Amino acid sequence: ARLGKVTKAETTCNYCAVGCRFELYGKDGSVLGVRPADPEATPANDFSTCVKGKFGYDFVDSDDRLTTPLIREDDGSGDFREATWEEAYDRIYEELSAIQEKSGNDAVAVTSSSKCTNEENFLNQKFARQVLGTPHVDNCARLCHSSTVTGLQQTVGYGAMTNRINEDIGETDCYLITGSNTTEGHPVLATRIKQNVRDGADLFVFEPREIGLAEHATQYTRTKPGSDIAWLNGMVRHIIAEDLHDEEFIEERTKHFEELKEKVEPFTPEKVEELAGVPPAELKNAAETIATADTCIFGWAMGMTQHAHGTRNVLAITNLALVTGNLGKPGAGLSPFRGQNNVQGGGGDMGPAPHNLPGYQDPTDDDVADKFAEVWGERPPQEIGLRLPEQYEAMLDGEIRGMFIMGENPVLSEPDIREARHAIQELDFLAVQDIFLTETAEYADVVLPAASNAEKYGTFTNTERRVQLVRPAVEPPGVAKTDLRILTDLAERFGYDWDYSSAADVMDEIAQLVPIYSGISYDRLESTPAGLQWPCTDAEDPGTPFLYEDEFNFSDGLARFVPADYAGPAELPDEEFPLMLTSGRVLYHWHTGTMTRRTQVSMDHVPESFVTIHPDMAEQLGVTDGEYVRVVSRRGDIVVRAEVEDVSDPGVVFIPMHFAEGAINELTQHELDPDSYIPEYKVSSVRIEPL
Ligand code: SF4
Repeated sequence: ARLGKVTKAETTCNYCAVGCRFELYGKDGSVLGVRPADPEATPANDFSTCVKGKFGYDFVDSDDRLTTPLIREDDGSGDFREATWEEAYDRIYEELSAIQEKSGNDAVAVTSSSKCTNEENFLNQKFARQVLGTPHVDNCARLCHSSTVTGLQQTVGYGAMTNRINEDIGETDCYLITGSNTTEGHPVLATRIKQNVRDGADLFVFEPREIGLAEHATQYTRTKPGSDIAWLNGMVRHIIAEDLHDEEFIEERTKHFEELKEKVEPFTPEKVEELAGVPPAELKNAAETIATADTCIFGWAMGMTQHAHGTRNVLAITNLALVTGNLGKPGAGLSPFRGQNNVQGGGGDMGPAPHNLPGYQDPTDDDVADKFAEVWGERPPQEIGLRLPEQYEAMLDGEIRGMFIMGENPVLSEPDIREARHAIQELDFLAVQDIFLTETAEYADVVLPAASNAEKYGTFTNTERRVQLVRPAVEPPGVAKTDLRILTDLAERFGYDWDYSSAADVMDEIAQLVPIYSGISYDRLESTPAGLQWPCTDAEDPGTPFLYEDEFNFSDGLARFVPADYAGPAELPDEEFPLMLTSGRVLYHWHTGTMTRRTQVSMDHVPESFVTIHPDMAEQLGVTDGEYVRVVSRRGDIVVRAEVEDVSDPGVVFIPMHFAEGAINELTQHELDPDSYIPEYKVSSVRIEPL
C-alpha cells in the first residue's frame, strides 16, 4: 500500500543532468507537486526549475506502472502472467545459468542505465562482472557522450565538465555553444546563459538550425550538419595566424602544439566556408572575440558527440579551449552538457562499461584487478567486453544469447531500430527491469517492476560532477522494489551474499574502490546540502569546483593537443535520399519518452512526433504545415506530421527523438565512431513523400 500521509523529500530532478534540486511532495501515496528547495541546497538552479522539473512527475502515479513481476507464458500464447518475485528470480537464474553453461559466461550481456542512481549502476556492473562473470556490460552513455569522455580523456585527463554551472557558466565573459539546443535540452542552463548575455557576455552559436538560443546570440552562424571539425580547426588556425593564442599557457601547461599548428594549416577561412558553409567574416569574428575574451565557456551536447567522428569533434573543441588558455581558471572551461540526470555518475563514474571499472580504472591492470578482488573476493573479468552497438551485432551473430536490461529502452534508442529489434528477438532469454512495460520490455521473457526515482534513496552526479542526494517522497506501487534491492536479491539467488542494508552501504564500497569518490559518504552528503564535486579524495576534502587549476590529469600534469583530422558525415544526400536529417530534443519531452509520454503537461504541449521542413522545401514537395508525410531512409520509413519552419537550410530536416510512433531511429544508421563506438545519429540521408 502507498503511504497515506503528506510526505516531503528534498531531492534531485530525475530528468536532465543540470541536477536541479527541489522539494517533492507526496500525499495519499501520490506525487502532489514540487516546490523550490532551500537556495543553499540548490547550487545548480538557485532560482528556478524548468517545466519538466516543476510539472513532470505525474508519470509516477500512472496506471501503466508495473506493480508485479511478469513472466511470459510458455503455453504458446506469448502472453505475460503475473508472478511472484521468487518465480521471477528463479527463471532469470535458470535461464542465464543455462545459457552460460552451454555457451560460456560471455554469452550474456548486461545493460545499465543513467536514469538510475550511482549505487544501482555500481551494483549493476558488479552483478555483470562478479555474479555473471561477463565483461559485456554497457549503458546508454555509449549513445550520447561516450565521444566526449574519449576525447577529454586524451587531451585533459578526466572525461567530465571542467567547470561549475553557476559560478563559471553563469559568469563567464564569452560562450561558444555548438551542438546543443540548450533552451530545449538543458533549460536552466540556457536561462543562466541568457541572463549573463543580458549582462554583457558574448554568445556565439554555431548550429545547423537556428535554435532558440540563437535569438540571444552576439552571432549565430549556420553550419552544415557534420562539418564541425572544419570550422573548429579553422578558428584555431586563424587565432594562431593572428598571434592571438595564449603563448604562456601553451608553453607552461600543454604539449604537442607544433603538431597541432601544422595540422590546422589547411583550414583557411575559404576552405572552412567550402566544407562547413561558414562565412569567413563570421569565422574570424568569433575566433578573435573568443581569443581576446578574459574567459570563455565552450558548451556542447549531442550535436557534437553523435557522429561517426564524434571523438574528433571533441578533440577539435578542446584544442580551441587550450589554444586560448581557457582551462584551469574561474569562468572558463570545457562544458559538455550531459543528457540524462545521472549520466556522469551512473553512466560513467560507476563503470558500467566494458573497457573500464568504476572510477575509469583499467580492468586489464593487475593492480586494479587485485584491488577489486580484495573487496569482492575475486577479480572481475580482465578482458575488454563489447560496447553496446557491438553487443547488438553479437546478438545477431548468435554470440550473445541472453541479456539483462536495467532501465533502458533500446528498441527505441539504438540506431537503426529495425535491426535492434531483430537482434533482441534473436536472444534465447531477455530480462528487463523497469518502471513501465516499455517497448523493449514487450520483448522480454521476465519483467521486473522497479521503483521510480521518486521512490528511493541514492545519489545522482550532475553535469558539473556534483554528487547529490535523491530521496523518496512516496512508496513504490504494488510489490515494485528499488533497483538496488532487486540486484541484491538477484545476486543472492545466484549464491552471492551482498551485505548492503542501504544505499549508504553501497556508497561506502564505492568510496573504497573509486579514488575520485573516496571522500564521499552519506554522512557528509546529509550535512552538505549542496553536494560534493569530485574529485573528492578524503573525508576533509571539500571537493573540486573546477578542474586543472594546477595540473591536468596526467602524470606529467600537461594537457595534450591532439589534432583532429577532418571527416564529414558518413552518409551524404544523393538523388534517392536528397535531404539531411538531424535529430534532437524538445523541452517538454525526455529521451525515449517513457516518462514524459505519460506526463500530462508534456503530452498537452507536444503530443506526437513531427518533422520540421523549410518553407521552400515544403513548397517544392507540395507539403503544407500540419499534414502527415512519410520520411524514408535506407533503413526504414515513418509517418509524421510536417511542421513548416524557416530554421535551417532547405536541405536539412529535423525530427525529435522522443516518440515510439514516428520513431526517428527507424531511419538512423549503425555507423560508429572508431574511438568511442558512438553511432552517427545526427546525420542521415532521407527523402520526404507526401501521403
Ligand atoms: Fe530537471 Fe533539467 Fe529541468 Fe532542471 S533543467 S528541472 S534538472 S529537467
